[in-house]
Amino acid sequence: MRVLLIEDDAAVASGVTDGLRNAGFQVLHVSSGAEGAQKAVEGEGPDLVLLDLGLPDMDGYDVCRSIRATSAVPIIVISARDDEIDRVVGLELGADDYVTKPFGIRELVARIRAVTRRSGADAANGRAGELQAVGPLSIDRRAQRVHVDGVEVGLTATEFELLSVLAEDPGAVYRRTDLLERVWSTSLYVTPKTVDAHIAAVRRKLGHPEWIEAVRGVGFRLELPRA
Ligand code: CA
Repeated sequence: MRVLLIEDDAAVASGVTDGLRNAGFQVLHVSSGAEGAQKAVEGEGPDLVLLDLGLPDMDGYDVCRSIRATSAVPIIVISARDDEIDRVVGLELGADDYVTKPFGIRELVARIRAVTRRSGADAANGRAGELQAVGPLSIDRRAQRVHVDGVEVGLTATEFELLSVLAEDPGAVYRRTDLLERVWSTSLYVTPKTVDAHIAAVRRKLGHPEWIEAVRGVGFRLELPRA
């Protein structure tokens, strides 16, 4: 498993690199945003990107957007500030998760495993090959692709998993806590706001916000027009 670490702080970078290597990961470290954006998408690319938001040459947000423009690789953002989180996760950037400095290697490894488990969830959970069409929406769980009226919608691994769960029983209400457990099971640090942020991103990307209906005080359900 190859991790690309984009972090300019040498002390943080060496701690993370050593810790992840000890945990069995291969780590490629770069200290500039421009180099990171390039390494993230060239060749086979990494299996996961760890992206510090505070970089000297390029805004971390722009690095994230640049990667997302061409790649669905899981991205975990490293943030120095808690209040950046709402912007980071889902809403604007399409990052899959975040850690806030200071963080421990065990926490980081747990996040990495949770995010990569989500992105590889299809092969493991026996839904391989399942193609589901609900009205104008089609979900291919084997290929992790979503189409609306035949046009592909680019979702991150986490967004895909969230939509995929909601689509298991269209019309049924899923509680936030159920969605947290289903989509983020091994990550102890997410909150119901994380669900809301990712729901907002999925709605926006589908181009039909009304398809995912909020049920006040409970959660969400998928309501699609019938074909
Ligand atoms: Ca930094």
